[in-house]
Amino acid sequence: DRSLGQIDPEVAAAIDAELVRQQSTLEMIASENFAPVAVMQAQGSVLTNKYAEGYPGRRYYGGCENVDVIEQLAIDRLKALFGAGFANVQPHSGAQANAAVMHALIKPGDTILGLDLAHGGHLSHGMKLNFSGRLYNVAAYHVREDDHRVDMDEVERLAREHRPQLIIAGWSAYPRQLDFAHFRRIADEVGALLLVDMAHFAGLVATGLHPSPVPHAHVVTSTTHKTLGGPRGGIILSNDAAIAKKLNSAVFPGQQGGPLEHVIAAKAVAFKLAAEPAFTERQERTLRGARILAERLTSPEATAAGIGVVSGGTDVHLVLVDLRHSDLDGQQAEDRLHAIGITVNRNAVPFDPRPPMVSSGVRIGTPALAARGFDDDAFREVADIIAIALQPGTSEAQLAELGQRVHDLALAHPLYPDLAPVSAS
Ligand code: PLP
Repeated sequence: DRSLGQIDPEVAAAIDAELVRQQSTLEMIASENFAPVAVMQAQGSVLTNKYAEGYPGRRYYGGCENVDVIEQLAIDRLKALFGAGFANVQPHSGAQANAAVMHALIKPGDTILGLDLAHGGHLSHGMKLNFSGRLYNVAAYHVREDDHRVDMDEVERLAREHRPQLIIAGWSAYPRQLDFAHFRRIADEVGALLLVDMAHFAGLVATGLHPSPVPHAHVVTSTTHKTLGGPRGGIILSNDAAIAKKLNSAVFPGQQGGPLEHVIAAKAVAFKLAAEPAFTERQERTLRGARILAERLTSPEATAAGIGVVSGGTDVHLVLVDLRHSDLDGQQAEDRLHAIGITVNRNAVPFDPRPPMVSSGVRIGTPALAARGFDDDAFREVADIIAIALQPGTSEAQLAELGQRVHDLALAHPLYPDLAPVSAS
């Protein structure tokens, strides 16, 4: 067979350029991570050829004896990792997992109550252009203006007023932990089901560094590629047997056809790695790195430059930089960090006066750098670089010097050192 480099030099060159980009810059998008080579090997395997509609032992296609072993391993490892009685590993993504849960548990026209997108929620929790906002009636809760914490009094008030069928707890841009027990009490009081979407903090939960939603929620969803560090994909967990049956049929045949068994194999590998001590140590560095960043960005020098962090700090793997009082907006901050080799995304902050495409914040996460081996000293260095770069008065000469410091950090923490370029294959 001809190789990728021979058949398609254009795609091969772009893949190689992406490898170089990942190796030579610092990835601080909070939802990203670096999948281990073993995970990518499983994902790039012959399993991509196999149709396997159904579930292990109950397939609609022949020849599933090997994928059955793989999918069952993924299910068993996932259940053990999070202490869940039921797991579905087939959702193609986090949004698909949420779609399947809603498909299973509520009907179009029912009411969902989720965190407002502008306050850190996710598109699939009720944004008006998303399936969740189009199919369901949406009520949204918020964070408080004074301390930027989710306003549980408002959640309670909205739950009583709107009587939602489903309450969603979870976030894409929120630097604190949620009180899952409190959410469950509210859900029980109004007869709602509770879905916790732990996509962002699943890696922290897996290692006991964040409270687990599994004992409290009727259903838990997640992605597998954020803090969990696996392939791109989604999962669903539950400890409620009656709900579990509905979840399986909502994923297949309700939402999807053939499962991506190559991705499921990669998920199985990631779940195995997540149970190892080295993964816990990495999540600890992830958390410490975020705290170091938050401390640097709340120093008197940063405050004087109009820089702050939402909620005053972080309990998780990300910091939401608050630039509402800075001359630099979110777009300019993202561009400036990009120019010195640090990749982040601009993000609205709660009560943001600037339009969403510009915004007054940047979301900065530490999981990918922790995967690269960053320790406290390296995180102190990157925090210092970011704090200087975000000062409105920083000169071009200073930015060039910061770019050199970024380059040095990248060199000192090699990524995928043994991966060969595909163009040469
Ligand atoms: N749920 C949350 C909380 C997320 O942050 C995200 C991704 O950003 C998703 C779901 C969606 O995941 P995916 O991009 O895999 O559909």
